[in-house]
Amino acid sequence: MTTIAQRLETVRQRIRDAEIRYRRAPGSVQLLAVSKTRPAADLREAFACGQRAFGENYLQEAREKQEQLADTAIEWHFIGPLQSNKTKAVAACVDWVHSVDRLKLAKRLNSHRPDDMEPLNICLQVNISAEDTKAGVAPAGVAELAAEFAGFPRLRLRGLMCIPAPARDEPARRAPFRALRELQEKLISGGMALDTLSMGMSADLEEAIAEGATLVRVGTDIFGARQ
Ligand SMILES: *Cc1c(COP(=O)(O)O)cnc(C)c1O
Repeated sequence: MTTIAQRLETVRQRIRDAEIRYRRAPGSVQLLAVSKTRPAADLREAFACGQRAFGENYLQEAREKQEQLADTAIEWHFIGPLQSNKTKAVAACVDWVHSVDRLKLAKRLNSHRPDDMEPLNICLQVNISAEDTKAGVAPAGVAELAAEFAGFPRLRLRGLMCIPAPARDEPARRAPFRALRELQEKLISGGMALDTLSMGMSADLEEAIAEGATLVRVGTDIFGARQ
């Protein structure tokens, strides 16, 4: 049987190897452990191995685990689809939201972020493969929306996030990650201070790191297949 500790070490080694192979600075790619559907005990096991950042997709599930893990110093990231009636609760219980893709959501997160907390870190989610069914703003709308997000005092826009359509080979997997990096570079050359490219999951983290990911979101390869 493979344990969470062993799988976590394997993922860390893949990240280190990819940093070397693609000439990325050592330690420049952060690992977000995506723990949706997993019990709190699994998060605790990963936490005991030094993992600090965890990603959750559903508010209710996240709240339950936060209660069970209140004795830990976990950094909580919300990465799932966000409905505007959940923004108040989300703004008060996480450190990061990766899935902000509309002005209305940013407005509400900003107004609900409690004053005694640091500004909420956010990523702008981009529908990089232009899929009808996917969340995210179209690439053509990124510059305008990012400028609006950057104006909210209770939010800190850290960068862009994407979930590309599945692709068969390496060049096809790398292309959307490269496109996201180029969008980010345009924002930076326009004067924005962005430091986070949230892209890459279990199956494509190497391709994402090759194209400049600074944060990879990995669930299956740490915790095992989800039901
Ligand atoms: C579930 C999920 C992941 C992790 O996917 P795996 O293939 O299990 O590594 C990453 N990002 C988002 C937004 C997810 O919903």
